[in-house]
Amino acid sequence: MAQRTPLMAGNWKMNLDHHQATHTLQKLAWTLKDAKHDYAAVEVAVIPPFTDLRSVQTLVDADKLEIVYGAQDLSAHESGAYTGEISPLFLAKLGVTYALVGHSERREYHAESDELINAKVHSAFKAGLVPILCIGELLETRKAGEHVAHTLAQLDAALQGLTAEQVRTLVVAYEPVWAIGTGETATPEDAQEMSAAIRGRLAELYDAETADAVRVLYGGSVKSSNVASIMAKPDVDGALVGGASLDPEEFAKIARFQ
Ligand code: PEP
Repeated sequence: MAQRTPLMAGNWKMNLDHHQATHTLQKLAWTLKDAKHDYAAVEVAVIPPFTDLRSVQTLVDADKLEIVYGAQDLSAHESGAYTGEISPLFLAKLGVTYALVGHSERREYHAESDELINAKVHSAFKAGLVPILCIGELLETRKAGEHVAHTLAQLDAALQGLTAEQVRTLVVAYEPVWAIGTGETATPEDAQEMSAAIRGRLAELYDAETADAVRVLYGGSVKSSNVASIMAKPDVDGALVGGASLDPEEFAKIARFQ
């Protein structure tokens, strides 16, 4: 069985300007250093707004931080007349490791379709970025008992045309929409059920080795008080953390599952 390194990723959403980002990242790094955090055992990433990325890169390089960073979105195109879009090539040049793709807030407020999300996943891989593909159901879908089928259909659509070699490096974040920013958390059993279903579908679409290599994160109101029980589940390989990642001390605790 593959040894999957847990990933704890903090999605800052549209919070923290570049001054605040530097301060927050410094505090996170100091807190983790004091706790003697082993980054080889648990990877830690921050996902700031685009306008913070250059400052984050400067600090990471200057202080030789082991924290990695990602982008909250990316364009499906490399360059051209796409006003307001951010090229995956620009992100790669800024040392970005991860790119969120298909976050529910992009699906909801920017009407991102499964086709566009699939194009963005391809665009990330082409530029050497690792997509963190976000999938998950609305409350009414869960109430109707269709959450697994719905989430797996999002997975199928996002993976169209990818090779097993690409998929092995992919990160999938299961984020039930009703749990994002609401204070409502899925139970550890809910997180495990969906993570196992995602891994099962990856085995069907590709092979067991690929399914075993993919990291599946849980996202939705993760806090230091609930992270340990979620991380105890065998198919959960980390967390995508929104609100709680804005507090560096709290996020450091989450990253250490304490
Ligand atoms: C998110 O933004 O992906 C998220 C899970 O947010 P929160 O932790 O605030 O629910």
